[in-house]
Amino acid sequence: MSFRLTYATMYNPPDAMHERFEAALAHVEAGLGAHHRLFIDGADRDSARHVARYSPIDHELRLGEFALADTADVEAAMSAARAAYPGWHATPVAERARLLHRVGEIIEERVYEIAAAMVLEVGKNRMEALGEVQETVDFFHHYADDFERHAGYTHVLPDDPIAGFASHNASVMRPHGVWVVIAPFNFPLALAGGPVAAALVTGNTVVLKGASDTPWAGRMLADCVRDAGLPPGVFNYLSGAGRDIGEALVQHPLTAGITFTGSVPVGRQLMQQMAGGAYPRPCIAEMGGKNPCIVTEHADLDRAAAGIVRSAYGMGGQKCSALSRLYVHERVADALIGRLQAQIAAIRIGDPRRRENWLGPVVNATAYDNYQRHAEALRVAGASMLCGGARLGLGSAGRTALARGYYVDPLLAELSLEHPLWQHEMFLPILTVHRYRERDEAMRLANDSVMGLTAGFFGGADEVSWFHDHIEAGVTYANRPQGATTGAWPGYQPFGGWKGSGSTGKAIASFYYLAQYLREQSRTVV
Ligand code: GLU
Repeated sequence: MSFRLTYATMYNPPDAMHERFEAALAHVEAGLGAHHRLFIDGADRDSARHVARYSPIDHELRLGEFALADTADVEAAMSAARAAYPGWHATPVAERARLLHRVGEIIEERVYEIAAAMVLEVGKNRMEALGEVQETVDFFHHYADDFERHAGYTHVLPDDPIAGFASHNASVMRPHGVWVVIAPFNFPLALAGGPVAAALVTGNTVVLKGASDTPWAGRMLADCVRDAGLPPGVFNYLSGAGRDIGEALVQHPLTAGITFTGSVPVGRQLMQQMAGGAYPRPCIAEMGGKNPCIVTEHADLDRAAAGIVRSAYGMGGQKCSALSRLYVHERVADALIGRLQAQIAAIRIGDPRRRENWLGPVVNATAYDNYQRHAEALRVAGASMLCGGARLGLGSAGRTALARGYYVDPLLAELSLEHPLWQHEMFLPILTVHRYRERDEAMRLANDSVMGLTAGFFGGADEVSWFHDHIEAGVTYANRPQGATTGAWPGYQPFGGWKGSGSTGKAIASFYYLAQYLREQSRTVV
């Protein structure tokens, strides 16, 4: 029996779905310890160096050995992608789309196994992992359909009779060449697969670099692409550290464009580098968020609490879309905070392999240390800790297993507005709160950020257009209990940031997304 993941199944999964997942997890765990290679020019390639990787769930849980690419591997991947480019570019759109649909089907056949591996590799819970794999499937189908629907974005334009010679005109969109995709750890499959699908369907060839924390997810995607039968060199996969190969990929003369998902400082640096070289090249940078939610005195507070908890603490706040700033009207603040406290106290923290645990560990030691540092900064600043901080007393019986993983306690803190943490993207389960008096003050504070990715609103139906008209964010949600700021899905919510959150103002899976992987050629023939 197979299930298509939807909001309904995500929030109320049938038992049989859990059973499928658990069987897949057992299978994946039985195969742990394998050696994972690079994928270049249609074949596995061993690298000179490897690294043994362990799960954030438990430092002693060894996932396997993973290739660490070096500059020679970058060279091999780039030349394979360049050699494959003319043939791939010349492949009819319908054939490229067919192959991408095939990749989507193969990922879907493996949805449970891939999700199980991601639970182990990143520590996300099973529903978040299953949702991400399904989202990746949908990206492949969405972009394949979208490009076909636009007939490759070719437009025949009117003839223009200049000086008596009728000229025939057309606009044709053509690919750039070798496209580099640099994926993040938090959505290692979807935010690799989405840009890869977009670059491929538009006729570019691809070199994908997985995040250093998540080489396995990228390799599983590579297996699906390989098994769909794409010609050698059209898609290549490198795992390794940014410091070893990032520079070589970006500076490479064959790199025609880049899609990067990650932090603002790295994204800005990439944009500068892509502006240099022989000539400027396109750089689609999807960067961070410091996402606000406004709750007015007319809000349905149960709805608001549900949406806020999901978006602030889901996946430990390690989403660009996560909610980290809450502005609540003083008249309803105590009532909302009471609801949040009850819901946060009910969050089950622990090994995400277990069905009942909603919040697994954060991804690595750096994230864990950052959490301790920020929690301490909040205490030192005299923030009122409304929730969190005491639950993971690791001495207590039953908590010893958690001491071997990067588990942290969700924090809710009322913080003075001057504190720098209101501006700093923490990427952790930490939500700061401010009580406001005037709605316009709340909007001014919500917009007081260099970022503008997602934003949430809970209030009266007649206030929604005020929110839309004034909020500076690329992705907005009003009165949405399924997620105040998170949970965009391809084909339903285009996902892209304003201001420092995105470099192009065009959203993922939007009507305009694929055009970014193409360059226009105006063709006039007399
Ligand atoms: N698509 C995800 C969401 O809407 C977020 C992606 C990200 O955080 O990087 O929640």
